[in-house]
Amino acid sequence: METILEVKNVSKTYQNKQGEVLALENVNFRIKKGEFVSLIGPSGCGKSTLLSIISGLEEKTSGEIYIENEKIEGISPKIGYMLQRDCLLEWRTIWSNSLFGLEVKGTMKEENKAYVEDLLKKYHLYEFKDKYPSELSGGMRQRAALIRTLAIKPKILLLDEAFSALDYQTRIMVTNDIYSILRKENITALIVTHDISEAISMSDRVLVLSKRPGTIKDIHKIDFEIEGRNPINCRESPKFSKYFNTIWKELGVHAE
Ligand code: ADP
Ligand code: MG
Repeated sequence: METILEVKNVSKTYQNKQGEVLALENVNFRIKKGEFVSLIGPSGCGKSTLLSIISGLEEKTSGEIYIENEKIEGISPKIGYMLQRDCLLEWRTIWSNSLFGLEVKGTMKEENKAYVEDLLKKYHLYEFKDKYPSELSGGMRQRAALIRTLAIKPKILLLDEAFSALDYQTRIMVTNDIYSILRKENITALIVTHDISEAISMSDRVLVLSKRPGTIKDIHKIDFEIEGRNPINCRESPKFSKYFNTIWKELGVHAE
């Protein structure tokens, strides 16, 4: 399978008043096309820093990032980024929010607009297209934010604690919803979470980061052998608690 993302020897040192903080040290991993990979680790170990570096919003101190074997520097249109806050613009309608990425990228072509329209229809937001974000539920807002991100056809989607602002019930439903959209659209995803269950339920692999300075401590391959696997049905598999216990022990008391 073709490699979409390669993170090679990435290190990051922040400067602050007290001096230097080594946030990440020699991080190495690859993600293949269509794969869902979660990144889990103790609070402050550099998860958000790593995603910001991949997205190009933060500079790395050393190392390289490749997307489809092409070295990237700075912000790349091949990367979609979703944060905990959905960052929808409250004064714009859902339709206008959904087109925002195309607007910024300068690719407001008819075919791209048609793709957005198609996504809104497929994922049950079309009838809300003239509403404002405040008129939507938390789950619908996340779905709208996802469509806005998918509109630019990113090669990989980065999610940083994207569901953690939602209450537990909603979070499970939204995770399932987003998961099925991403699988249907054949998206490759890198998911940062501090929730072990969320990581296992969504991923093909879970990467465990050590405490700061963050480096890859272990990689767990997740395979439930369930036809039509989704984040809800895999929780019923006996393998789920096995994976959970292994990762839980590995994170130990350092888990958030
Ligand atoms: P995580 O997302 O895993 O909780 P972060 O990537 O946010 O961790 O932070 C990793 C470390 O880098 C922490 O010790 C944090 O205090 C430090 N850090 C993050 N951003 C900055 C910054 N802009 N300036 C200085 N230190 C920072
Ligand atoms: Mg973080």
